[in-house]
Amino acid sequence: MKSATMECPVCGGNLTRGEREEICEYKGGKVTYMQPGWWCGSCDEAILKGDDNTVSPS
Ligand SMILES: [Zn+2]
Repeated sequence: MKSATMECPVCGGNLTRGEREEICEYKGGKVTYMQPGWWCGSCDEAILKGDDNTVSPS
């Protein structure tokens, strides 16, 4: 049984699965993309799993 939440390793708060808009620099410009991951509602920590880091700006 999969859980929809995880515990934040930083503050012990609840992490929720989702996407958040991130900005990175790419070819001299700024690119926004949706970064999937686990986001903490308490301390704003982002926990990225292996699969989450395969996302590349298009
Ligand atoms: Zn946290």
